[in-house]
Amino acid sequence: MSEFLSSRFSGLEEYTPGEQPQDKKYIKLNTNESPYSPSKKVIEAVNSEEVKDLRLYCDPDCKKLKTALAELYEVSTENVFLSNGSDDILNFAFMAYGDRGAAYADITYGFYSVFAELHGVESQIIPLNEDFTLNTDAFKGLNKLVVIANPNAPTGIAISLDTVEDIVKSNPESVVLIDEAYVDFGGESCYKLTEKYSNLLCVQTFSKSRSLAGGRLGFAIASKEIIADLEKIKYSTNPYNINRLTQAAGLATVKDNGYYLENCKRIIETREFTVAELEKLGFEILPSKANFIFAKSNKISGKELYESLKEKGVLIRHFEKPRIKDYNRITIGSREEMEIFLKTVKEILGETV
Ligand SMILES: *Cc1c(COP(=O)(O)O)cnc(C)c1O
Repeated sequence: MSEFLSSRFSGLEEYTPGEQPQDKKYIKLNTNESPYSPSKKVIEAVNSEEVKDLRLYCDPDCKKLKTALAELYEVSTENVFLSNGSDDILNFAFMAYGDRGAAYADITYGFYSVFAELHGVESQIIPLNEDFTLNTDAFKGLNKLVVIANPNAPTGIAISLDTVEDIVKSNPESVVLIDEAYVDFGGESCYKLTEKYSNLLCVQTFSKSRSLAGGRLGFAIASKEIIADLEKIKYSTNPYNINRLTQAAGLATVKDNGYYLENCKRIIETREFTVAELEKLGFEILPSKANFIFAKSNKISGKELYESLKEKGVLIRHFEKPRIKDYNRITIGSREEMEIFLKTVKEILGETV
């Protein structure tokens, strides 16, 4: 840290992304990326013409992509906001709606607390229940910014649409942000409720179900007033925040939605296969509606399993936090990757393969 840094940031604890090691090829089950490559149409769209046009600024309104996305979700373009990854929307929301503080779970996406601190937003941390389900009643009637990942990360546990609606209804004076990064793997999206509730902000991403983590593309669906707020902040910080290649890739992605739905189906099947196999090995697994599972072994500590797997070329995510240190978060890869993962776990547990 330099002596010049504002004292506002001197205590800021930054977010630690999952490892992206470049030293060797791992079976990468640690950051919830898709095992499937983007659709062929995406690869065609990011063509040499588009690359030549990189000399020109991109469309700050992302008109084509926004129109396609609005059509897909049957909303108006005024109800859609696009961003450089959905992390950007979370950032903007804490910046814009945190005056009376923000409430979120103790075990959830690690970025919420970072954004709260970054913007000086007071946090009300609401512990998950003993079984890692959300204490939904505690989120009602707070009238401060409410932030809920649904399905939650790293647990994978989802809440119902009715529960989301109850929480939204009971906080009429504040924004309720539902982070749906994993909703395409079996959860229920709340985006349709945004027609009815002007305080609901539904946030999604192309990073997980749409194979575009490296392209950085997120979006929100909300009332046109909330979208206007987000646009105001975007145009006050970085109007060209979605680059030309990502806009082209995003548009081709939306146009080939069927391909991604099919991939999600395969990932859900592979998830159920992996859960069944791990249970045979004595693992306890939380009920997941995401493209990852949160699992605890009855034979080996979370840290030991993480370290042994890494040594053998398989990366999973371990969180050294008191409540969840016995668990590991395991991304669902392709069937082949999961078979190697399971074989390696068996080796580690010293069982015959
Ligand atoms: C991955 C993730 C995001 C952010 O994804 P982007 O790549 O920034 O779109 C947001 N919320 C949760 C819960 C996530 O796991």
